[in-house]
Amino acid sequence: MQYSPSCLPEILQAITTTINANAHTITLLDQELGDGDHVINLQRGIDALLLQSDELSVLEWSAIWQQTGMILMTKMGGASGSLFGTLLTSMGKDATGKVLNQQNFADIFMQAVDAVKRRGKSNAGEKTMLDVLIPVADKLVELAPSSTSLKEVMQTIEQVAVAGAKSTCNMLATQGRASYLGERSLGHIDAGAQTSALMIVAVITVLSLAPA
Ligand code: ADP
Ligand code: MG
Repeated sequence: MQYSPSCLPEILQAITTTINANAHTITLLDQELGDGDHVINLQRGIDALLLQSDELSVLEWSAIWQQTGMILMTKMGGASGSLFGTLLTSMGKDATGKVLNQQNFADIFMQAVDAVKRRGKSNAGEKTMLDVLIPVADKLVELAPSSTSLKEVMQTIEQVAVAGAKSTCNMLATQGRASYLGERSLGHIDAGAQTSALMIVAVITVLSLAPA
């Protein structure tokens, strides 16, 4: 991946726009399944990142991921703050000194998702953000050695992320606050899965237009 970190402010702006545009719907989802604060937690985290976006964008991707992860862990709050923070700090640590080609990025993302699994003591099928992150990591690893163009990879990843979020609708929650609801957790998309998909789509939209 040859994308310049100078596109970070644009990525953060795109994430802000999509999260703000969908804030009401996501809050309703988190009220059904959790305590309704997921968007507020996320907006607090993103605002903290936006404040530092110019300083961050002159760093290498590995340092950007580590620092954004630390900022989310300390500023965001909620289970999701610690989990998104774990994803990014882990990506940053693993990426240090590596060339960011498709194979390395896929491996880095996969092991960061594994770190989220360990931190959340959770796995696929439990109605969480992992139902987006795991299929995305699997697809990245599957496509990395193939001749699929980067453009096609990104289109596929968008579809996988959106489908992953939708798939949580018919899952029984066994993790986080939603797990207390038992059968009543059926029929609603998980808020963290939805925001994960929205953010992945936002990142890809910016990268698709950026020079690679
Ligand atoms: P909290 O649950 O502490 O109020 P948030 O509302 O910010 O935190 O985030 C809730 C989201 O975090 C859920 O929608 C789910 O996607 C994710 N989540 C919560 N617990 C876990 C876990 N153990 N493993 C993976 N994801 C989790
Ligand atoms: Mg919550």
